[in-house]
Amino acid sequence: MTLIIDCHGHYTTAPPAHDAWRQEQKAAFKAGAPVPAYPALSDDEIRDTLEANQIRLLKERGADMTIFSPRASAMAPHIGDESVALQWARVNNDLIARCAALYPDIFAPVCMLPQSPAADMQGSIAELQRCVDMGFIGCNLNPDPGGGHFKSPPLTDRFWYPFYEKMVALDVPAMIHVSGSCNPGLHATGAYYIAADTIAFMQLIEGDLFKDFPTLRFIIPHGGGAVPYHWGRYRGLADMLKKPDLAGHVMNNVFFDTCVYHQPGINLLADVIANKNILFGSEMVGAVRGIDPTTGHYFDDTKRYVDALNITPDAKHMIFEGNARRVFPRLDAQLKARGQ
Ligand SMILES: [Zn+2]
Repeated sequence: MTLIIDCHGHYTTAPPAHDAWRQEQKAAFKAGAPVPAYPALSDDEIRDTLEANQIRLLKERGADMTIFSPRASAMAPHIGDESVALQWARVNNDLIARCAALYPDIFAPVCMLPQSPAADMQGSIAELQRCVDMGFIGCNLNPDPGGGHFKSPPLTDRFWYPFYEKMVALDVPAMIHVSGSCNPGLHATGAYYIAADTIAFMQLIEGDLFKDFPTLRFIIPHGGGAVPYHWGRYRGLADMLKKPDLAGHVMNNVFFDTCVYHQPGINLLADVIANKNILFGSEMVGAVRGIDPTTGHYFDDTKRYVDALNITPDAKHMIFEGNARRVFPRLDAQLKARGQ
């Protein structure tokens, strides 16, 4: 029996009062006025938004649980200053904690970070600790908190090291995940996300990060961006850069999800990338919400594509469950504590 764990879900359907407060927060920052109190959201309100969306789709599609984080496109840590980013991260993470408390068998919480572009990682370190203390199992790390101009140091830079030390100490992985795009040339989910995923992978090739942090783990979402399709290019570049083979250089530490939204893409992913490095994910309710006219099924019904893969039952079990439990040891511990 395999537990179907979706490693990539966002609370894109939070109650409207949550988003309204964000607008008030931004207006208050602009006006130099105090921020109004965060609204009181009832459990029923939260239940309604989840039952009608994420939970309904999860059940319809035959998955069991979702590794769940705040809406990525709304993280926007570049807005305001660090205190604005910190407040916004806290209310979002608190909301995710409530979702997980209401449905502990369905939602495993992952936090966003208050990565204001001018700030160091100290605020993010404190927020990660606060969230892990609340039962969170991982975080979303934004490699470009400026929102589409790629001015942050590469992920292999020492700028990030204090945060990685915290991740390693807490034994939590990070999904590398940008937020909304402030760059009119970069469509958020179609260009910026996929570009950032690809850029992150190349940064990891160029550096030697996992020599310093052998147990650090990253999930690169959206199928690893363009990486699997261009696998020969990246292997060749590693060779030209005098780096070891990618299997040892990065692939003990880097994982891709299955959010590519069509069967040939998943076939390629599973063919090119070792199945130990693939985690089932859908990113729903999220980036692409429509129905594929060529199949009659939702683009983001990604379980269907994994089910159809011509791989061994063991490999499928790893993609649906085993790899997620390995990458998220705190999830594994929570499941074991529940007898799963
Ligand atoms: Zn996402």
